[in-house]
Amino acid sequence: MAANGHSPFAPALRVVDDGNAVDLTAAELAAAGFLRALGMDTGTESLRDTPRRMAQAYAELLRPSPFNLTTFPNDEGYDELVLARAIPVSSVCEHHMLPFMGVAHVGYLPGERILGLSKLARVVGHFARRPQVQERMTKQIADWLTDQLQPRGVGVVIQAEHTCMTLRGVHAAGSTTMTSTMLGTLRADGRSRAEFFTLAGLHS
Ligand code: ZN
Repeated sequence: MAANGHSPFAPALRVVDDGNAVDLTAAELAAAGFLRALGMDTGTESLRDTPRRMAQAYAELLRPSPFNLTTFPNDEGYDELVLARAIPVSSVCEHHMLPFMGVAHVGYLPGERILGLSKLARVVGHFARRPQVQERMTKQIADWLTDQLQPRGVGVVIQAEHTCMTLRGVHAAGSTTMTSTMLGTLRADGRSRAEFFTLAGLHS
């Protein structure tokens, strides 16, 4: 057992999708039916392959790619904020199945272990590739990093444009939605939180 009471975790963790199997043929048939129900003629040359493309596009948007989460001992005792700024994020809103996209700023205050920097983007992608709401995704990323890394603090800020808001409905073109989850020291200590927002290029 580590000093903090948690059991030591494996240095490499294979992170895989826990979703159900994808049936592309059924998805293609359903997409064709969906388009016809909306008055489209899927027999025309221009739309003939569209149901297949729709099925493949959504399958891709909704299926996370597996990755190895590699952590390293924090031998140097680095105790400052580690922040990956403006990680591109795109997901699908679970209310309309329309894309939302923007950037994520993900940071943590290291404890006994640190993470390969590119892995922060992989974690964001892992939680983005599924039907989502931005608020939940923000919290899931922060909670997951807390569980896996046992850091002293975690901060996640996502700024995204939701096409269900900007292309339809209220047509709020150009508006972005901002969500944040701060845990541990980044929640409790105003100075750490302000440093996070400054380094992320956000004005707190
Ligand atoms: Zn929506």
